Amino acid sequence: MPLDLEELIARRATERTELFERYLNTQMVRVLRTIGFDVEYVRGEGPYLYDAEDRRYLDLLSGFGVFALGRNHPGVVSTLGQVLAGGRYPSLVQLDVSLLAGLLAERLCQRMPWLDKVYFGNSGAEATEAALKFARYATGRSRIAYCAHGYHGLTYGALSVTGDPLFRDGFGPLLPGCVEVPFDDLSALEGALSGGDVAAFIVEPIQGKTVGVPGDDYLPEAARLCRRHGTVFIADEIQTGIGRTGRFVACEHWGVEPDVVLLAKSLSGGFVPISAVVMRRWIFDKVFDRMDRAVVHGSTFSKIDMAMAAGLAALHTLEEERLIERAAELGARLRTRLESRLQGEEFFGEVRGKGLMLGVKFVAPSSLKLKAAYSLVEQARRGLFCQLVLIPLFRDHRILAQVSGPEESVIKLLPPLVIDDGNIDWIVNAFATVLKD
Ligand code: PLP
Repeated sequence: MPLDLEELIARRATERTELFERYLNTQMVRVLRTIGFDVEYVRGEGPYLYDAEDRRYLDLLSGFGVFALGRNHPGVVSTLGQVLAGGRYPSLVQLDVSLLAGLLAERLCQRMPWLDKVYFGNSGAEATEAALKFARYATGRSRIAYCAHGYHGLTYGALSVTGDPLFRDGFGPLLPGCVEVPFDDLSALEGALSGGDVAAFIVEPIQGKTVGVPGDDYLPEAARLCRRHGTVFIADEIQTGIGRTGRFVACEHWGVEPDVVLLAKSLSGGFVPISAVVMRRWIFDKVFDRMDRAVVHGSTFSKIDMAMAAGLAALHTLEEERLIERAAELGARLRTRLESRLQGEEFFGEVRGKGLMLGVKFVAPSSLKLKAAYSLVEQARRGLFCQLVLIPLFRDHRILAQVSGPEESVIKLLPPLVIDDGNIDWIVNAFATVLKD
C-alpha cells in the first residue's frame, strides 16, 4: 500500500515544531518564536499563504525569490503531473542525451541570444561553483574578483566570493586568490583586473542583500574592463533573473551581455531544485574539449526530467501570462504608490530597485525626540529598526517580508510576479500604518 501522505500530515501535524527543534535547526525555531513568525502554514496559492485558521498572508518573500509564478501554479502542476503520471520517462539514464534538457537549453539561449551553451545544476551555489571552475580552466588563471556585500551561495567556492563576514567567519581557509572590490566602484575593479591574472569577475547586477542598484555606467564599463583584461564577466542573475526586474535578466536594463549568466530560484517555478550556467561557447568548449573530458564537470541529478520539465513549463507560463511585462508595470506602480504615500513620513528614506525587486529604505528621523529613540534602537543592534517595522507588518497586516541589513535599514520586497492592484493597496496601506504607529 502506498504511503498516505495526507493521513500522515494530519496525524503528526501538532509535532511540527518539536520535530524541527529536535532534528533540524533549533535556532531557527527560536528566531521565529521571538519575532512572532511561528505560524503553521497549511496551504499556498499564488501570492498567498494560508494558516491553519485559513487566515491569508501576502508573501513578499517568495521563498527567497523562488515563487515568481506564485505558489503551486496550475500550469506547472499540470506539466509535472504529466512527467509523474503519464510519461514513464527514462529520466537520468546518464549515458544518453536528454531531449528535455536540450529544449530548455534552447529556450534559455533564445532568451539570451549572445550565449550558446548551458550547464544545468541543482542550486544557485552549484551554478556559482561551476562558473568559477569553468572560468579558471578556460582562462588558465586562478584569481576571482567579487564585490563586497555580494552573495553567491554558501558552498566553498561560492562562499569565497560572498562578501559577508557573517557567512565566512570561522569557515576558512577559503579559496585562495579571491579579491574583494567595492560594489559600483570602477577604479577599484580596474585596479583588481589590471594585473591580467584574474579569471573572472562575478557580480549581481542588483545586489540582493541591500537591493543595491549600481550607477548606470557601472555594468557596461565593468563588462568593457573584463573584455580588455581577458577576464570572464559572470552575472549572477540567480535572484534578479527570469523576469524579476521587468526584463528576462537584469543586465538587459543596461544593454550588457555578460560572458556567463547564472540562473536558479524561479527557473522551475519553485517546484524542483534547478540552476543553469548559460555561457559563451568558447568557455564551454575549453572545458569539455576532448572525449575523455566529457564528464569533467557534472552532478548526478543535473538535467533530471522533473527539473527540465518544470523549467520549460515555467518559461512557457512566464511568456503566456506576460509576467515580465507585468513585473515592470506593477513594480513601477508599487514603487510610485509607496513613494507618494510615505513621502514626508519620519524614518522614510527611499524606495529602490527595479521591477518587482524593491527595497524600502529607512533613515534616522529629523525630529529630535524620534532621533534619540531611533539611535537607541540602532545602538542596541544594527538593523533592529527594520525588525521593528517587519514584525507589525506581519502581525497586524499579514505581510511576510525580510530585512536586508545590517549595513543599511532596508526591507526587501520580492513579491510573486502575479500580484495585482489589490495587493499593491494592501502593501502600501500596511507600510503607511506601521510607519505612523
Ligand atoms: N546567488 C544569488 C544572487 C542568490 O540570491 C542566491 C541565493 O539566495 C545564491 C546565489 C545561492 O543560491 P542557493 O541558495 O540556491 O544555493
